[in-house]
Amino acid sequence: MVTLGELREECGVFGVIGHRDAALLTYYALYALQHRGQESAGIASVRRDWIEARRGMGLVSEVFDDEILGELESDTAIGHVRYSTSGESLLVNAQPIVVRFKHGSLALAHNGNLINAHLLKERLEGEGSIFQTTSDTEVIAHLIARQPWSDLEEAVLAALKEIRGAYGLVIMTKDRLFAARDPHGIRPLVLGRLNGTFVVASETCALETIGAEFVREIEPGELLVIPKEGEVYSLQIDKGEREAFCVFEYIYFARPDSDFRNRNVHLVRKNLGRFLAEDYPVIADVVTGVPDSSISAASGYAEEAKIPYQMGLIKNRYLGRTFIQPTQRLRERGVRLKLNPIKQVVWGKRVVLVDDSIVRGTTAKHIVQLLRLAGAKEVHLRISSPPYRFPCYYGIDTSQASELVAVGRSVEEIREMIGADSLEFLSVKRMVEACGFSYDSFCTACFTGDYPVSLEKRVSLPNDF
Ligand code: SF4
Repeated sequence: MVTLGELREECGVFGVIGHRDAALLTYYALYALQHRGQESAGIASVRRDWIEARRGMGLVSEVFDDEILGELESDTAIGHVRYSTSGESLLVNAQPIVVRFKHGSLALAHNGNLINAHLLKERLEGEGSIFQTTSDTEVIAHLIARQPWSDLEEAVLAALKEIRGAYGLVIMTKDRLFAARDPHGIRPLVLGRLNGTFVVASETCALETIGAEFVREIEPGELLVIPKEGEVYSLQIDKGEREAFCVFEYIYFARPDSDFRNRNVHLVRKNLGRFLAEDYPVIADVVTGVPDSSISAASGYAEEAKIPYQMGLIKNRYLGRTFIQPTQRLRERGVRLKLNPIKQVVWGKRVVLVDDSIVRGTTAKHIVQLLRLAGAKEVHLRISSPPYRFPCYYGIDTSQASELVAVGRSVEEIREMIGADSLEFLSVKRMVEACGFSYDSFCTACFTGDYPVSLEKRVSLPNDF
């Protein structure tokens, strides 16, 4: 159950150029992207010849107020919401980061993780760079600053050719916006249009929130240059061997009202639930889903199985997401505060509980216990993704391989540990089919160990694979 503390999220980015309400639009867009990171939020905007940035720890609504947004008023801005997938949970690591160098000022906001950041950092430090943060994003800034090119565009392109891993990146100067996506397209990034100006965002839900129309996705390996005046054009960073869009965006990360590759996330999740019902039917009285991210899959399961869907668990929405809290002890307490079963729905019933994933297993165990305490006669757990067996190195913090419950355990052993009457996972093949694209177009590494960008030496896989 990832929504309650087992899997930490990545980040959300947004950028707009040439709109007089740029800062306010960025604020609204970050609101829409809040699910992608709740640890810190930031907006940078162009103020005449310099770049002004405001960053803070907490939710978008906690970091910004009218006065701050007034100070950021501009026609060009970028924004970021963060969960720390690399670098510590500190204000200094909040984004966008702003640097000043020979080309002027530059602001960067990055979603993803670079697998060669430590090597690049070592090299740059050897060459005299001084780092102020522990985030990967500063490595990109230093790389750009150290390029010999006199033209900024060439410098950005050359820097991006050196980095490896996953990124959806927006870079802002006083008269240009750059939007770049890693050569495998692991992390999402979309282009929209609003009243003749361009915006970029991690997800389409941010475009809809501000009334922008969707234009297209930034292509894997594309560096899109959006000048304040003049035509938009594309440069090629590199072509990955294959596209490898993160399948977990469909399963859990993205908001259900977002679309990727012209497929709506909610409908894909319903499909995952449907396939799960086809492959793993069970005689039961009621189907329920773990709120919020599993509701779509649960409704798909219920429809296919012809078992009534009921809201069996209620989430307290006002606590903030528990995975902001750093320790396991606090996370478990967060789960108790956050979910409550509806006794009248589950009492004396055989319940199918649908969840999107099991990472460490502690939350699933707790929810099964909650349902039993509320009187459920049987609890059949159905997971709309395969067992999560490999750590993600592309921007999702799943902690160590040793913490993943599916590493070294059979499904039966996991079931026993969680205490469910039955437990089934969707297979990799069926997951990919439900998403509607070929296996080769996805990153499925956390389920298969098939990493699309080969890992550096210091990364080790679980030893039973
Ligand atoms: S390893 Fe998993 S979570 Fe990470 S990018 Fe690949 S599919 Fe997404």
